[in-house]
Amino acid sequence: MSSTSNRRSFLAKGAALAAVPAVAAMAGVAEPAYADDALPDYAPIPPSALGPALNAQGYYVGRLERNLYWVTDGTYQAAFLTTRDGVVLFDAPPTIGHNLQRAIDEIASANGVSNKVTHLVYSHHHADHVGASSLFGRHVVRVGHTETKRLLARDNDPARPVPDLTFETQRTLRVGGERIELAWHGTNHTPDNIYIHLPNHNTLMLVDINLPGWVPFASLNIAEDVPGTIAAPAKALSYPWKHYIGGHMGRPGTRRDMVVYQQYVTDLVDGVKKALVAVDPTPFFAKYGNNTWAAVKLYQDAQAEYAAAPVIKKYTGILAAADVYTASTAFLILESVRLDLGVGSQVHP
Ligand SMILES: [Zn+2]
Repeated sequence: MSSTSNRRSFLAKGAALAAVPAVAAMAGVAEPAYADDALPDYAPIPPSALGPALNAQGYYVGRLERNLYWVTDGTYQAAFLTTRDGVVLFDAPPTIGHNLQRAIDEIASANGVSNKVTHLVYSHHHADHVGASSLFGRHVVRVGHTETKRLLARDNDPARPVPDLTFETQRTLRVGGERIELAWHGTNHTPDNIYIHLPNHNTLMLVDINLPGWVPFASLNIAEDVPGTIAAPAKALSYPWKHYIGGHMGRPGTRRDMVVYQQYVTDLVDGVKKALVAVDPTPFFAKYGNNTWAAVKLYQDAQAEYAAAPVIKKYTGILAAADVYTASTAFLILESVRLDLGVGSQVHP
């Protein structure tokens, strides 16, 4: 496929375009910004990573269980619950944007229930997951963690009004006869990322931890707290659920997806611990002399590569894009194993 047709198919996916505006803008301006033969090739995406086809408006909406639905643009995900008193929406990614209400309208009219969003639950404060919040006006009840409120007050973004209802560790939300259990189990991806459990729908929503079918985005989904992020899958698996909404990519997850992801991260931690022992720093410091950063950078790149290589090999064909982002995640885990766990730390004699 030529770079032009690749770009066209990429641009045809409005969602993916909006997800990476800088790249899309570059692709739109420069003609061609990069020659196809200068760009690296990656392993094919396993079919198990992909979700259902999008409709003409660029979204897919599907039922998880009973009156709980999920909606995707192929890259981002939200969920909603239709109740006798209105709709509870979970996250409002700007890439899905006005398609959120379209998806709700479609389901509500098919089932003869209200399409009015009365509650909007924030998984965490990040703009890429709640940046379409303001589309739902001033009269919806926004629900989130106290830290989400603090961070959104700091960020002062009119697209993301602060939550009206907050909680510290646990809150049961009851709307139209349905029960939603919100919980905060410590920092992970961000300080405010929460577990959204719908016990009567066998569903857990936990965003930006496991992206079912795919390896994490760069640097373990840009985790702010690596040990907290590594601990999250076990906490998620301690809940009873069948369906998982991870906030990303084209399909919901299963418990099996969570176990595979947990093993992937465990394998990287093990690889990093081996790399800290196995990779010899001598040649890097010998070559770069007084340029300490050059020596450190190349030494740590070699450690991350040492840790990532067997993991990429093991997960290619199992998790999509293992060869794209594993080295980046290995680097962040390397830093956490050194700095949080203190592995390899030596006191000068
Ligand atoms: Zn996030």
